[in-house]
Amino acid sequence: MDRYKLLFVSFITIGSIIVGCEDGEKEPDEIVPPDTTPVKQDTFPALGHDGPYYADSVYYGREEYVEYWAGDLPIILSAPHGGSLTPDEIPNRTYGTTVTDVNTYQLTKTLMDTMVARFGGRPHVILCRLKRTKLDANRDSVEAAQEDKYALRAWQEYHHYIGVAKKKIENDFGSGLFFDMHGHGANPDGYYDLRNWLGYLLSGSELDLSDAVLNTNKFKNESSIRALVDSSSYSFIEVLRGPNSFGALLDSLGYKSVPSVNDPGPGGMRYFSGGYNTARHGSRDGGIISAIQVEAPKPGIRENQSTWSSFSSAFTSTVSIYYNRHLKRNLNR
Ligand SMILES: [Zn+2]
Repeated sequence: MDRYKLLFVSFITIGSIIVGCEDGEKEPDEIVPPDTTPVKQDTFPALGHDGPYYADSVYYGREEYVEYWAGDLPIILSAPHGGSLTPDEIPNRTYGTTVTDVNTYQLTKTLMDTMVARFGGRPHVILCRLKRTKLDANRDSVEAAQEDKYALRAWQEYHHYIGVAKKKIENDFGSGLFFDMHGHGANPDGYYDLRNWLGYLLSGSELDLSDAVLNTNKFKNESSIRALVDSSSYSFIEVLRGPNSFGALLDSLGYKSVPSVNDPGPGGMRYFSGGYNTARHGSRDGGIISAIQVEAPKPGIRENQSTWSSFSSAFTSTVSIYYNRHLKRNLNR
């Protein structure tokens, strides 16, 4: 080959490389590393795709973040803050409360088992298995899921299952009770209030008002037990904290509660009046199902299987008497 020919071949080769680079073509044997960035699923089956729901069965939402035990009693138990799952696919929430209500998942399942044994029927039970750092099922969807698609899906499933339970109760009964199960810890100053705080959407300062001032339609209509009071032959204040109130009945079985006859109000102390679930799923805004938020202290109640069982026994007796007294129905089958 003469040197002109060699120069020509060299130009062709260089030209090919340049053209190849400009076109972005890759050599056929080049290994392209796979894109490992996870693509978020953004379409899900329609809520209700796993129904119909039978009272002897348990159902789980996507990835088993939400657990629903379908029931046949006019009772709903919800535990939004007792979960422990921390999947990598859901980032941690960046604002709002993220504290777990220790053992409320276990306590609520023990309560379910106690009711099944006592009544011969099943309460509806909805449990969040995600840790509160990932989802808060007792907040509106924005604060609850903080723009994560999987957390939002779990939130939607949680409230879908409660909706299913409410619909069944509305079809089968004229009344129902919803309990949102929580746990409270020591106060910021270190004092541990060992009473159950029962939330009816009335603030602590409202509960510290006198019976005469509080016993009005205005306060009754602001409460989460509006429908129950309308059905009861007792007045609002009697249902709220009289001898036949939920708090007084629970107190008589060894579990001090606010409000009740002995503890009519928090007396200016820290107290939780009821959150998103109590407002959304109770009867303040209509419907036949009344709601109570239950904030249990850990000592003597949320500690271990023994304390869960004792509390569940007293709580079940209280539900039975309360339902019978105000809604004139025996829960026993
Ligand atoms: Zn809570």
